[in-house]
Amino acid sequence: MLNLDTKIEDLYSVGKTIAARLKRLDLKTAKDLLFYFPFRYEDFREITRIKNLKVNANANIAGQIELIQNKKSPRKRMYITEALISDESGKIKVIWFNQPFIVKNLRIGDKVSLSGKVTDDNFGLIMKAPIYEKISGFESVHTQGLMPNYHLTANLTQKQIRFLIKQIIKLAKKIPDSLPRETAKSQKLISLAKAIEYIHFPENYKEVEAARKRLGFEELFLLQLQSLLIKQKLDKAKAKKQKFKEKQIKKFVSSLPFKLTNAQRQAAWEIIQDTEKTRPMSRLLEGDVGSGKTIVAVIAMLNTALNGQQAVLMVPTEILACQHFETIKKLLKNFDIPIGLFTRSHKKNTLENNPQSPIPNPQIIIGTHALIQQKIKFENPGLVIIDEQHRFGVEQRKQLIENNKTSVLPHFLSMTATPIPRSLALALYGDLDLSIINELPKGRQKISTFVVPENKREDAYKFIRKQIKAGRQIFVICPLIDISDKLGVKSVKEEYKKLNERVFPELSIKMLHGRLKAKEKEKIMRDFLDNKINILVSTSVIEVGVDVPNATIIMIEGADRFGLSQLHQFRGRVGRAEHKSYCFLFTDSTAPNTIKRLQAMIRYNNGFELAEIDLKLRGPGEVYGTIQKGFPVLKVATIFDYEQIKKARSEAENLLKKDPQLEKSLNLKEKLSQAEIIN
Ligand code: ADP
Ligand code: MG
Repeated sequence: MLNLDTKIEDLYSVGKTIAARLKRLDLKTAKDLLFYFPFRYEDFREITRIKNLKVNANANIAGQIELIQNKKSPRKRMYITEALISDESGKIKVIWFNQPFIVKNLRIGDKVSLSGKVTDDNFGLIMKAPIYEKISGFESVHTQGLMPNYHLTANLTQKQIRFLIKQIIKLAKKIPDSLPRETAKSQKLISLAKAIEYIHFPENYKEVEAARKRLGFEELFLLQLQSLLIKQKLDKAKAKKQKFKEKQIKKFVSSLPFKLTNAQRQAAWEIIQDTEKTRPMSRLLEGDVGSGKTIVAVIAMLNTALNGQQAVLMVPTEILACQHFETIKKLLKNFDIPIGLFTRSHKKNTLENNPQSPIPNPQIIIGTHALIQQKIKFENPGLVIIDEQHRFGVEQRKQLIENNKTSVLPHFLSMTATPIPRSLALALYGDLDLSIINELPKGRQKISTFVVPENKREDAYKFIRKQIKAGRQIFVICPLIDISDKLGVKSVKEEYKKLNERVFPELSIKMLHGRLKAKEKEKIMRDFLDNKINILVSTSVIEVGVDVPNATIIMIEGADRFGLSQLHQFRGRVGRAEHKSYCFLFTDSTAPNTIKRLQAMIRYNNGFELAEIDLKLRGPGEVYGTIQKGFPVLKVATIFDYEQIKKARSEAENLLKKDPQLEKSLNLKEKLSQAEIIN
């Protein structure tokens, strides 16, 4: 019998290969599938007659296959399947790329429904890579009403997923609904089972809405509960007081090569005042990319170390950990403070260099997730800082705070480059106090952003050459590592080859991506920082935190593949010193919406505004997983829905008033402990 834990490979029609492909999407059980939500829907309720098709519009057509054949494109080494489809009003050409098997599914004479974008290729209208469905007559189970679209990897089809979910949709009733009944009632939410059914098989948009509302509310509700529970705990907990080591800190600050901005000063002061108390600090430091959060963190860590306690800084990537380690080592060279680096591949200590027991000797420890994964216990932690906090879960935060041998909690600071407005930040992260760095260091120039059309590419290269002659450095970002058969998506390897062999053979160019060994990555980053490399071709591994003040151009290939707030983060890799800097965005897409989206980058210079624009232009589903990087990971809800957030907060407060330890809501408790929600 099927149940929620039934393994994917035990479902009807799932063989080993499909199971393996599904596992790549993290789909292992029936339950996983039920919670794999579509990111958008296609409206098959309206079929357009071929004669009435318009250029650049998405449309659904139904017709008969007149002709279908595979061709091999010699230049791009790919298959093109060409078909001619007719209905009673006319004919249209249809093509698919690299799906030669289609000719086995669709034969001349078959009736099909197709959904896709209509373009004009100079020889007439053409539909490229449409979703297709064989139909009998002009009716079909699949294509009536709204058709869900799931994010899939190669070699899985929408149809397969829909077919699998159809098999198990009845199981939705067996999932315990963890939302308190009163909450569901007062917020007018449908049941979980209904919501899951509607989100996969809606008959109309109203059902989609109801489903999203229910599922989204639960996400926000859990987020709020989580945050309230942490707050409860902090209110009861004790931390060690730290003294403000005024003389030494002032001396350190005046030894810096720059003057702190007022905002940096204020933030550092707020943090130090908090650490003087016995209530554990729980503070969020917000400052746009390049505003200088690191030095504020260093001041706080130094004060902790001078108090004889340990300070821990956790960052999301190894590259960033190494960078911070080097920077902080240099900054604190006049102090006799051991500094440790702890990542999957590094266990260093500036003073002891003892790889066997590297921790807990250092007073200042910089590390990645490895700190949590390897359950490093700290001897005497006084301060825990998480950089780019949105990359970590609440749960991880809790673990890091609690991983210590004493019963007192360390003071806690998280830092983010996402400038969420104060009111929203308070609603979202109610357990945190807020410090905001709202000014950039003096002398920074505005970064000029351009959406560069293909025919201006050579000019861009010329400009790059000029900048390099002047001593500057360049980042080139690509969406993928390897050359892909997907149409028009640039890869690091391909671009590297092109730039290195053809465009700039005289320059020093290197590649950076997640598949390199830590040692290699580190060497490349160090060489880039030392200006031994002119151009760094990289994936999104340098998205956050990387600080190379001499870099002045970031060129982003396939820019349409990234969310706007992500692009904003990339852009923040340049303009980090006094040099005038530039961001060049490239795209193969000519879709008006894509261009509009990218052009928003020219006008706006604020990650939060950009995120909101992205959401408006693309819709919530499309945006999930790209734009929402930098925000709590919500699958359905959005953080811009301030009203829902407030409601979720007050519902969470109500529940905790009645059931402070969630003893009567075990379901919820369990859900919270496995929540992936990121705060
Ligand atoms: P972010 O807030 O993005 O983490 P960083 O802390 O990496 O920014 O700082 C960006 C750059 O600005 C670094 O090279 C840093 O040394 C420099 N910087 C920080 N504060 C100041 C300041 N007050 N004046 C000039 N440069 C500064
Ligand atoms: Mg930073």
